[in-house]
Amino acid sequence: MSGCIFCKIASKVVNADIVYENQHLVVFKDLKPAAPVHLLLIPKKHYSSLQDLEEEDFAIAGRINAAAVRVARDMGFAENGFRLVCNCGWDGGQVVNHLHYHLLAGRELQWPPG
Ligand code: AMP
Ligand code: ZN
Repeated sequence: MSGCIFCKIASKVVNADIVYENQHLVVFKDLKPAAPVHLLLIPKKHYSSLQDLEEEDFAIAGRINAAAVRVARDMGFAENGFRLVCNCGWDGGQVVNHLHYHLLAGRELQWPPG
């Protein structure tokens, strides 16, 4: 989708610090990390948000979960744990309207969030 920053990252038009990629998705470092490890997992295909997925598109959510676990193991923080978050819509705090999940790790995270 033209004008979408995450589509530009997925298509390598805009640089990002990519830590993992496969045919379906890209994982890269968040520009403004909220934890020692703060990654974003995005589908290469543009979906505006989780609530815009059609029934037949939900496989991408499973692929993103699988990629999160893989990256957590590869980067060595799986044992200590991590948080995978999808901000959805206005009240959910979603700012970038391309489906993405935050993967946070590297310190004990507070619950509930603010
Ligand atoms: P959200 O509030 O869930 O929409 O979060 C969007 C996230 O994208 C924020 O944590 C931003 O810091 C991050 N972000 C925005 N633009 C970029 C970029 N070009 N590269 C890396 N992270 C970005
Ligand atoms: Zn997009």
